[in-house]
Amino acid sequence: MIYTLEGHALKHAVEEMLFHLLPTAALARADAVDAADGTGDYCRSVLTEVDGRARACADVRIGGVTRRSERCASVQGLAPIAYKRTVTELVKTTVYEAVVPSLAQPPVWGSLTGVRPAKLARGLIERGMARGEAAEYLREHFHVSPERTALTIRAAATAIEMDKRMGEKDISLYVGIPFCPSRCYYCSFVSSATAQSGHLIEPYLETLCREIRETAALVREAGRRVQSVYIGGGTPTTLDENQLSRLLDTLEQSFDFSGLCEYTVEAGRPDTITQGKLRVLRAAGVGRVSINPQSMDDAVLAAIGRRHVACDVLRAYDEARRAGFAGINMDVIAGLSGDTPDSFARTVDTLIGLAPENITVHTLAIKRGADLTDKQAAAAQREAVARMLDGASRALQGAGYGPYYLYRQKFTTGGFENVGWCRPGTECFYNVAMMEELQTILSLGAGGVSKRVERDTGWIERTNNPKYPLEYIRAADRLAGGKRKLLFPKQ
Ligand code: SF4
Repeated sequence: MIYTLEGHALKHAVEEMLFHLLPTAALARADAVDAADGTGDYCRSVLTEVDGRARACADVRIGGVTRRSERCASVQGLAPIAYKRTVTELVKTTVYEAVVPSLAQPPVWGSLTGVRPAKLARGLIERGMARGEAAEYLREHFHVSPERTALTIRAAATAIEMDKRMGEKDISLYVGIPFCPSRCYYCSFVSSATAQSGHLIEPYLETLCREIRETAALVREAGRRVQSVYIGGGTPTTLDENQLSRLLDTLEQSFDFSGLCEYTVEAGRPDTITQGKLRVLRAAGVGRVSINPQSMDDAVLAAIGRRHVACDVLRAYDEARRAGFAGINMDVIAGLSGDTPDSFARTVDTLIGLAPENITVHTLAIKRGADLTDKQAAAAQREAVARMLDGASRALQGAGYGPYYLYRQKFTTGGFENVGWCRPGTECFYNVAMMEELQTILSLGAGGVSKRVERDTGWIERTNNPKYPLEYIRAADRLAGGKRKLLFPKQ
């Protein structure tokens, strides 16, 4: 599909909406469309402004049928950020309204393309709307389905409650270990298989421990208090017992953990979990682990390149319980190659039978740069994935789990979401703080994105660590500089 922009340069907004609605379309920007030509799909987005009113118009032709949507809004006296937000929303909404009648069914998230729908709902509630009014706004204004609206309002309510536990000086830490025993076929994270980059683990750990010590000194100087720690990846339990001990000891000796309310380590791959490593984690005060089967179907596990079978998950879970972990999360993914609504339902039922505190249901994300065949395959799975997610939602609610946080990714099958479910009172503090951007989070390690959140205004500043392990190791001397700027903005 070709698209044109007239009177504005909101290329990203138009492309994002078109991709959201037409994930298999190949988009190309043009200078003009030839409406008289009668062939080919196009989208023409026009923005004009007269007497303080902005007017957006989208003309869209799909399959020979042309539709138009128009909307206006006052932009008189708006500050630049509010102005941009208003006109962007007008442009996106008109494109949405002109495309949707051509679809077999509207997307469940309507015209919402952002990754944090609950943050949007929380903003509405905090600005004075009752929850019911915020729900109505999501349905009416963004065309969000009733189920997703309910999910969003619940996640927003959890965030509002969690926010009350956070003080002005509180922060959380994320520590990244970007190594895995092998690479899963669907992986879109920055993580290297040890066969290719195992030789980098030692220098990586050395750099990470240095970054930990330097960051801890800055945190002390800034008078900040660490409230939660999350060690993720990759797969942190790819490290051997000695390496894990060194990492956890460095963290404990460097930071004051007396105010810690949660300490999580992703022990994602069952094939990396041993009793010895679990003992090391427990001894360091880690209380929550994530054991991620993704599927409990051995054929699916083989198809996605996991080097473990479902029995390994059961063994790892049992060992984690025996080691004393009272907080266990388990991740599953809807839409994996070879999975079906029935086999996915069996996976969810098996996990519910284990009774972990948290179960996180992800939707398969299409890798950035995926080719048309991959996109078409993902689009063809839409109905099946919808059934998987609906079935999981019913089963989890029936077993007493409730949704407590959610997020969306740009390239998920069917534009669906990822939802963290929990048994009452077992919400993961870090997940909510991070996803809702409730507090400052310092991220250590390759690919770490640290954010300073000004809790009174919501203003966010970021600093990024280098993305890949080797770049990160080479940047060892520069890592603390970014964190200093973040923690001491006025210096
Ligand atoms: S375990 Fe996770 S991070 Fe590692 S390769 Fe698989 S999906 Fe990627």
